[in-house]
Amino acid sequence: MSHTDPGNARPLLRATDLQKSFGEHQVLKSIDLLIGKGQVLALIGPSGSGKTTVLRCLNGLEIPDGGEVAFDGGPAVAFAPGTTQKQAQVLRTRSAMVFQNYNLFPHMTVLENVIEGPLQVQRRKRAEVVAEAESLLARVGLAEKRDQYPHQLSGGQQQRVGIVRALALKPSLLLFDEPTSALDPELVGDVLRVIKELADEGWTMVLVTHELAFAREVADEIVFMDQGVVVERGHPEVVLRTPQNERTKQFVHRLL
Ligand code: ADP
Repeated sequence: MSHTDPGNARPLLRATDLQKSFGEHQVLKSIDLLIGKGQVLALIGPSGSGKTTVLRCLNGLEIPDGGEVAFDGGPAVAFAPGTTQKQAQVLRTRSAMVFQNYNLFPHMTVLENVIEGPLQVQRRKRAEVVAEAESLLARVGLAEKRDQYPHQLSGGQQQRVGIVRALALKPSLLLFDEPTSALDPELVGDVLRVIKELADEGWTMVLVTHELAFAREVADEIVFMDQGVVVERGHPEVVLRTPQNERTKQFVHRLL
């Protein structure tokens, strides 16, 4: 466990006053997040509380209506109604997302899935990208699957490909959106083990999860959201063992 004080690590990402509505529904009300380099932030909360939307806003997949996101203390991307995908493009280069349902391209092999982003988006050299992809696949025990298609793999294997695909982009920040919730229980452990290894190696990550025991093991900070606001945040042992807010208490007691 590497529970350092989030206040002591050099900030990698600062999100301030993020707001997002879909029609009349205000899904994010005013979200502030500070993530130190090498830290793991676990985002928990009931379904519909806005966790996925936070990840998508950090990644520029969704454009917030207001607020700011800044990496490494660099210039902030400031959002307002009318901010374009292009203006948020810089965020896409800094983080990579691992999706709940893997989101692999079904018509591409494992290797092609992994090298697509580095080749097409980052315009890197094919030989170098393939070599890196092979070594990442070997790392998660999938070297021999490189020429298979996603449908030939188990859910756990597909998700490990999803993680490798994110790593291949060499992002500063990994975003995990309930990475194990679509998996059969016996396949969850393999995926959590990979995530734990990445955390131990010093990757900075935001992890949306219902696996509270895992969050306690791996996270430096837990942020509990409900109805588009951060209700409580702090050290995992504190938030999970002695939650202060009534909504956090109910949520944690139901799942732990
Ligand atoms: P969580 O990840 O905590 O389950 P989400 O961020 O997925 O929550 O969703 C928060 C709320 O925003 C939900 O009520 C959801 O229906 C709504 N929502 C999310 N994405 C969209 C969208 N593209 N259009 C309309 N409503 C959305």
